[in-house]
Amino acid sequence: MSFASLGLIDQILATLDTLAYHTPTAVQQQAIPAVLAGKDVMAAAQTGTGKTAGFTLPLLQRLVKSSGKVSSNAARALILVPTRELAEQVHESVRTYAQGLELRSLAAYGGVSINPQMMALRKGIDVLVATPGRLLDLHRQNAVRFNEVKVLVLDEADRMLDLGFSKELDQLFAVLPKKRQTLLFSATFSDPIRAMANRLLREPVRIEATPRNTTASAVKQWLVPVDKKRKAELFIHLLKQHAWPQVLAFAKTRKGVDELVGLLHAKRIDADAIHGDKPQPARLRALERFKAGEVRVLVATDVAARGLDIDDLPAVVNVDLPIVAEDYVHRTGRTGRAGASGEAVSLVCADEVEQLAAIELLTGQLIRRVEEAGFAPDHRVPETAAGGQIVKKPKKPKKPKGDAPVVSEDVRFRR
Ligand code: AMP
Repeated sequence: MSFASLGLIDQILATLDTLAYHTPTAVQQQAIPAVLAGKDVMAAAQTGTGKTAGFTLPLLQRLVKSSGKVSSNAARALILVPTRELAEQVHESVRTYAQGLELRSLAAYGGVSINPQMMALRKGIDVLVATPGRLLDLHRQNAVRFNEVKVLVLDEADRMLDLGFSKELDQLFAVLPKKRQTLLFSATFSDPIRAMANRLLREPVRIEATPRNTTASAVKQWLVPVDKKRKAELFIHLLKQHAWPQVLAFAKTRKGVDELVGLLHAKRIDADAIHGDKPQPARLRALERFKAGEVRVLVATDVAARGLDIDDLPAVVNVDLPIVAEDYVHRTGRTGRAGASGEAVSLVCADEVEQLAAIELLTGQLIRRVEEAGFAPDHRVPETAAGGQIVKKPKKPKKPKGDAPVVSEDVRFRR
């Protein structure tokens, strides 16, 4: 199948040619004709499936074809995203795909001064990519009106809810025109997302690019059982052993991220951090440097790393397992993208067995265990079984040694 057969106009086809996009991905094959036909769409698609082009290309075409110019302080299409990084990234894609089309676009997000965004909105914006909180702020300050909005895209809708944006989203939905096209993209479909889709979408075309809550099959996944205190050491060991040219590593907390980066620096390994405590310019710089291949290891928390589009990433390492099982799916989605193969490795300690079981239940697959010589944990990670169970081995009764009295655990504690 070709992009031309999906009904895209010549200008957009020429751009795709320069980008060497020859064949539409599964999401694109389904989404492009549906969006061009003005239909609402509900798509289960994670990052790496080509979803951004899937909604952006037909959206741009509709804007180009529709008559009329955008008024000042108005927007014609809104793309809502959960994080600043994703706003930048989606906006970058919009700019790339809109080459040669006379459309204005803008990314608006919090954590940076609102004034330049207000200034840019004065001319009117065709495609506004925004995080919900900042968009509401801009609306409250009359910097943007929504009466010309024809299309609303909710990108990574599940993540927006996870990050607690549901109130802001409801406030936005209340002030958006009722007559509009709505496209909802989500990696996972929890009950709250389905409820939101039922409220917002009219007879949507349903697209499922990958089965619900599954991880990309091109990604080789395995885990290494290890004691918590030896995770950083094991990470550095695996980095050497596998000679991954680049790795995106995830830690649970900001402190954990900084500590790991500190250790990597001490070992003279190029590493950078990306987490919520870092100012926005520093986060973007870290991402840019990583994308440019100047940094070998990027260590991130989930919030900061959501949706990052990094090409050819060979490995993702979960130094800590995510608290929310769905994040495992998002994290592993950072590798094995656009048909490339990748590895997702999790360093799992005994405390994390419940998170592991929840991930295995969600994805419907057991993650292969690979013991690493020299790193066998003192605290055994209990076995897990299909269906999210934790297999508890019965405690072996202590064998009396010689004439020594049998000392029960309880007694020893009290002594
Ligand atoms: P996304 O899932 O939208 O984050 O896109 C994942 C990556 O695939 C991005 O780097 C895109 O540039 C790339 N991509 C999207 N569509 C295609 C295509 N049809 N052919 C080749 N690469 C693509």
